[in-house]
Amino acid sequence: MTTQQKPLKPLPTPSRENKPFWDGLKQHEFRLQLCKACGSYRWLPKPACPNCLSEDTEWVKASGEGTLWTYSTVYRAGPAFADDIPFITAIVELKEKPLKCLVLSWLVNCKLEDVYVGMPVKVAFEAIPNEDITLYKFVPA
Ligand SMILES: [Zn+2]
Repeated sequence: MTTQQKPLKPLPTPSRENKPFWDGLKQHEFRLQLCKACGSYRWLPKPACPNCLSEDTEWVKASGEGTLWTYSTVYRAGPAFADDIPFITAIVELKEKPLKCLVLSWLVNCKLEDVYVGMPVKVAFEAIPNEDITLYKFVPA
C-alpha cells in the first residue's frame, strides 16, 4: 500500500512592493494603495498611479466591501484544488471610488445557484496554519 501525499496549494510570496497588503491581511485589514494626487485606489500595487502617473502613494485600509462585478465557476483544476471543485473565481468591484477598483478573488460560503452579478460581498480572512500568511476571499455580505 502506498500513501500519496496531496499536493499543497501554492502560497503567495510577499515582495517589497506588496508587503503592506499582506501585512494588512494578517491584521484583518484589506489595504489598497491610494493615489494622493488624484484620489483613486488601486488593488495591485504599482510604482505609479495608472490614472495620473503620480508616484505619491499611501497604503490605506479599505472597506473590504463591494459587489460582484463578474465571476466564473471552475469545474476543473489542478490536484491541489481538487477538493474545492466546483469553486467560484470572482472579480469584485470595491466600494472605493471615484474610479472603479477591481479585485480578483474567490467567492466562498455561497451556493453556485445563488451567485449573481451585482451581489453584495465582503472580504473574509483566512490565516494559513503553520504559515506566516493570511489569505483573503470574498463572501456574501
Ligand atoms: Zn492618481
